[in-house]
Amino acid sequence: MKLLEQMVKNDGKIYSGNVLKVDSFINHQINAKLMMDMAKSFYDYFKEEKITKILTIESSGIAPAILVASLFDVPMIFAKKSRPITLDHNSFYSAEVHSYTKNITNTIIVSKDFLSKEDRVLIIDDFLANGQAVLGLSQLVNQSKGKVVGAGILIEKSFQNGRKYLEDNGIKVCSLCRISSLENENIEFNIADDEIR
Ligand code: 5GP
Repeated sequence: MKLLEQMVKNDGKIYSGNVLKVDSFINHQINAKLMMDMAKSFYDYFKEEKITKILTIESSGIAPAILVASLFDVPMIFAKKSRPITLDHNSFYSAEVHSYTKNITNTIIVSKDFLSKEDRVLIIDDFLANGQAVLGLSQLVNQSKGKVVGAGILIEKSFQNGRKYLEDNGIKVCSLCRISSLENENIEFNIADDEIR
């Protein structure tokens, strides 16, 4: 998506460890019009897939995921990073996810009430780095015996191994912006998935 690339180029900030900050339009302040356009791109890409649920992880995935869910007219579920005391141990699916930016491992959970074997699930997240978040979310769906139809990603860092890791695990990835390099304070791009079809 050309507009997203432009905004990443103009307003993205590069930090050590190949972390890109996009706080001015995605991760803190949100450009609502851009977010809606991105949601529409995911809708166009996955519209034939008979999706029944959108799944993301709190908190940055929630904004894009809810817009995508609204377009598909299906519920959006966000996996929680801590278990509320109201959920007992047998009532949720769980997976371990190592956070790329925080360097900690979280147990993510979704209540068994909200995923089932009839579900065809589209996973949405803001960034793809090593694929841990999406893989953890897909494990929750697998535990419910539902099917992961694919993963919609706003910004993929293609120089990291997330896409290969997910594709090796049978997950189709659609990224709206694919960064090939963040070296020397310069952002370079690969062609995005929504532009090749
Ligand atoms: P992965 O699980 O693919 O290794 O990393 C993806 C997760 O880590 C995303 O949910 C995202 O929140 C966070 N993340 C990874 N890389 C970046 C980055 O460069 N910038 C930001 N803002 N978040 C990132």
